[in-house]
Amino acid sequence: MNNKIAALLNEQINKEFYSAYLYLDMANYYDELDLDGFANYYMIQAQEERDHALLFMKYMQNNGLKVTLEAIGKPDKTYSSPMEPLVAAAEHERYVTSLINNIYHEAHQDKDYRTMKFLDWFVDEQMEEEDNADSMISRFKLFGSDSKGLYLLDQEYAGRVYTAPSLVL
Ligand code: MG
Repeated sequence: MNNKIAALLNEQINKEFYSAYLYLDMANYYDELDLDGFANYYMIQAQEERDHALLFMKYMQNNGLKVTLEAIGKPDKTYSSPMEPLVAAAEHERYVTSLINNIYHEAHQDKDYRTMKFLDWFVDEQMEEEDNADSMISRFKLFGSDSKGLYLLDQEYAGRVYTAPSLVL
């Protein structure tokens, strides 16, 4: 495999762990507000991001590539309303989509069909992540502006349960 692609895959492990860290930080923010359902939602989101990191790691292992784990950046955003993490999450997912697209582009240039096929799952996943993040914003705008609506949204997000990723390597 082309060294540039291997380096991008290795970097993506770190980016996915950073995503997990970012979502844990959001979970902590909601926990402080006693919005336990939102906190639960982001705890589970963090688990999913860790899964993504492990999938990139496993793909590298399966292809005999050396994995180098780097330091994970500190989540440095501060939030001053329950809406702000939702917006930050949607922005972050768009950024992750651009990262996946960039690796895909390199794989395509290099006729690395195996990596393209591996990334297909992430291309679909990013569409879902962006869609979910956007709908959390629009639902918050619709229902979150009064305390009863916010309570019901929080109750709903309390019901999110973790499911392992459908991709198995
Ligand atoms: Mg991810």
